[in-house]
Amino acid sequence: MKTCLVVDDSKVIRKVARHILETLDFTVEEAGDGQEAMTACLSEVPDVILLDWNMPVMSGIEFLRELGHTTLPRRPKVVFCTTENDTAHIRAAIDAGADEYVMKPFDRDTLESKLQLVGVA
Ligand SMILES: [Mg+2]
Repeated sequence: MKTCLVVDDSKVIRKVARHILETLDFTVEEAGDGQEAMTACLSEVPDVILLDWNMPVMSGIEFLRELGHTTLPRRPKVVFCTTENDTAHIRAAIDAGADEYVMKPFDRDTLESKLQLVGVA
């Protein structure tokens, strides 16, 4: 089974994402901010990370930059979540190492197609 780390400060969003991902046969781990996500990655690298943008402690973009200069056994794919079709946000995230982005709120089909695009579904 593929593993997905869901990183979002909203417990509701994590729950929705977990439900969708489990129907897509992913094993799901959760983190409430970028710092927790980094700790999770250092412990076990997920196949893919679903990454929120706005979070306390460590934001999505800060996490991406940290991930960029952290040595891990392998590099997880990163799909970052944005609430608006903000091209500046999307550009900044891709520049910082994100593989894809998905607009919130996302449904099962949208998320599945993004996971296929990065090669994990
Ligand atoms: Mg948030």
